[in-house]
Amino acid sequence: MSVVGFDLGFQSCYVAVARAGGIETVANEYSDRCTPSFVSFGPSNRSIGAAAKSQVVTNYKNTVQGFKRFHGRACADPYVQSVKSNLVYDLAPMPTGATGIKVMYMDEERVFSIEQVTGMLLTKLKETAESALKKPVVDCVISVPSYFTDSERRSVIDAAQIAGLNCLRLMNETTAVTLAYGIYKQDLPAPEEKPRIVVFVDLGHSGYQVSVCAFNKGKLKILATAFDSELGGKDFDDILVKHFCEEFSQKYKLDVKSKPRALVRLNQECEKLKKLMSANSSDLPLNIECFMNDIDVSSKLNRGQFEEMCAELLAKVEGPLCSVMEQAKLKKEDIYAVEIVGGASRIPAIKERISKFFGKELSTTLNADEAVARGCALQCAILSPAFKVREFSITDVVPYSISLKWNSAAEEGLSDCEVFPKNHAAPFSKVLTFYRKEPFTLEAYYNNPKELPYPTASIGQFLIQNVSPQPSGESAKVKVKVRVNVHGVFSVSGASLVEIIKTPEGEEPMETEQTVKEDENKMQVDQEDQKFQAGDNGDKKSEVEEMETVTGDPKQEKKNDQPPQAKKPKVKTKTVELPIECNLHWQLSSEVLNMFVENEGKMIMQDKLEKERNDAKNNVEEYVYDMRDKLHGVLEKFVNEADRDSFSLKLEDTENWLYEDGEDQQKQVYIDKLAELKKIGQPIHDRYIEAEERPNAFEELGRQIQMYMKIIEAYKAKDEQYDHLDELEVTKVNKHVNDAMAWMNGKMNQQNSQDLTVDPVVKVVEIKAKTKELYSACNPILSKPKPKVEPPKEEKPTENGPVNGPEPTESQPCNPDKATSAGTEQETVENKLPEMDID
Ligand code: ATP
Ligand code: MG
Repeated sequence: MSVVGFDLGFQSCYVAVARAGGIETVANEYSDRCTPSFVSFGPSNRSIGAAAKSQVVTNYKNTVQGFKRFHGRACADPYVQSVKSNLVYDLAPMPTGATGIKVMYMDEERVFSIEQVTGMLLTKLKETAESALKKPVVDCVISVPSYFTDSERRSVIDAAQIAGLNCLRLMNETTAVTLAYGIYKQDLPAPEEKPRIVVFVDLGHSGYQVSVCAFNKGKLKILATAFDSELGGKDFDDILVKHFCEEFSQKYKLDVKSKPRALVRLNQECEKLKKLMSANSSDLPLNIECFMNDIDVSSKLNRGQFEEMCAELLAKVEGPLCSVMEQAKLKKEDIYAVEIVGGASRIPAIKERISKFFGKELSTTLNADEAVARGCALQCAILSPAFKVREFSITDVVPYSISLKWNSAAEEGLSDCEVFPKNHAAPFSKVLTFYRKEPFTLEAYYNNPKELPYPTASIGQFLIQNVSPQPSGESAKVKVKVRVNVHGVFSVSGASLVEIIKTPEGEEPMETEQTVKEDENKMQVDQEDQKFQAGDNGDKKSEVEEMETVTGDPKQEKKNDQPPQAKKPKVKTKTVELPIECNLHWQLSSEVLNMFVENEGKMIMQDKLEKERNDAKNNVEEYVYDMRDKLHGVLEKFVNEADRDSFSLKLEDTENWLYEDGEDQQKQVYIDKLAELKKIGQPIHDRYIEAEERPNAFEELGRQIQMYMKIIEAYKAKDEQYDHLDELEVTKVNKHVNDAMAWMNGKMNQQNSQDLTVDPVVKVVEIKAKTKELYSACNPILSKPKPKVEPPKEEKPTENGPVNGPEPTESQPCNPDKATSAGTEQETVENKLPEMDID
């Protein structure tokens, strides 16, 4: 199981993984830990992340960015319509009316759903995690803004599925930050003590989120959240862009908005300027060469002017801060610390305002860019059985109050009930009781649309099927379980019909498994809830609450609620699970989702093929350049002039071909082309390599010969070290050595008299083989150990193992195989993976 956290940002994404050493933010193929949230479409492939961002100017129409907030929204949605005019790429409705993006891909006009686009981005992030972990990644935790509604959340879950990911939890961005903060703290108050209250602020590119959290040892509880979805780094960029558009219109008579390419460049420069102004309060220049109509533009700005321009935006900082304090009923003195994260939290004026509001220094102990991803990876590690992480319970909140409404037979009209008020603990389940004679529909909706970032009320409809009256004709008791799950998504997660079977008086009801007395009924439901929970993505600690007050028929309820002592009806009950038909707002159908999964697979394959094709082309190009250089360098001596000229010409032709007919060919064409060139180039290159390595090989053989000769000499001189050797065998060795020397001298002389432009008379491998052969023939004879002198009696001979031979001396021949490998021998210490300890 993989343990990965993804921060799916509006502007950029981060990937954190858990390894034995702890949590680590990992880098992409550009060695960058930040992956831009960009997807670019081309005639033969897609590029995602940094590669896509680099095309934002040249291929702006097909380069998609800033799509995070299109999740779960209609194309006609006021938010979508309001940003549409500022986009340089096109939007188009999907057949369902949801937002899609229109691009040219593979020379065809295509409309991709937002789930698909985010799925593409996640595919990239998944690859980054996979190459860091060196194993497939499926299980993960993904972040979403705490203000995302159900349809937005479900849309992100679908995107994860399209990318082949199993999202164990969608985690609110600020909650991920609180976890990244709290789990490492060793000095949190004990569970029974007053909690430590910390405010977290995340100012990203698109939005501003605040949450207030209560920490005790081993747990965190979010108390309240607030946000401004129209306050982020992007909004500051927009003000700068607007300012310079006006200035350039006056100064240079340029209509920047009419040229998307210029607008994209201006946006990039304004963002850079904004970042510079965070560090510097003096006048800073803005220069763009060849901006529009061949005109260079320049201007300047300083922080004071910038803050003046952004006064309205800056005034919005306080609102959410006030809101969380009010919601959580806290005073400023209650706040232990204010932690800020998110790229745009670096703007000095923002920091000043937040700090002034709380009357305290801000704390920046977390990595402002990576805290969300790290928190998600920590959550994934907690959910994963593969890691041992300190117990830490996380209680989040329901961001918006949720109500249910239904047709009520008794009241002849619509009834409703708030099931989850704002800031209710989540995940959480409740059981509602209805008395019905027929199937009925529950509609879930946000009952206070003003709390939402945009006017959406509906969550979905849930049709409780197969409801029929009791045999007596009375309404049946239907228990409905509603839940806000780990992803923060509302659902009607189960419904059951409680059949009441009356037994004739005096007859004891049979004790079957389904027989439960009325007062035990509650218990039975609770147990079932436990079962529901277990299947709910590792949600270990949710709670269940029963709401018996909700009913479709109050009269009926009274009847059933008679105190047991009034009359003693002997009843047994049977619970029957009821099917539920869900109709969720902006939910992709499973057929469409499956099709998207399949299409993503095809596009991944296409990208892979295109990459291989490009690699094959690059290999040809690289070979051409490399060979051209070397033909007039190191290889010059190894090819005759005529061959060199013709090969040079061929290389030049190939280079031209690459820019003309060979620009866009099949992979095999490039492979063949490279093979054709190598057929000529390889022998030249081989001759060069042979000439480079030959002296060493001969030297090694020479050394070996000399060494054996020395031993033979010593033997002949009756050296006591060798006097145990057999004469006949030494004579054999002598012959081998003489033969080898003759062979070597002969080959050396032949080779020295031969031109380097022709293939060598002897190959390095042959020389090495000769060295090895000599060793095998001579070594066993010459290194035979001298017999040991009989040990004195009292010393016991070693019982186990062979008797050691003499210590190798300097003149002891060494194995040519081992001689070369000795230096590279790896230490093979068995590495047992420790469990992750976040300390
Ligand atoms: P979101 O959280 O809204 O989904 P995100 O996570 O992609 O977006 P971040 O990466 O947290 O956003 O922040 C990006 C924003 O921070 C950009 O607007 C960027 O210009 C801004 N930013 C980064 N560094 C600085 C800086 N030094 N000064 C001012 N702004 C900065
Ligand atoms: Mg962010």
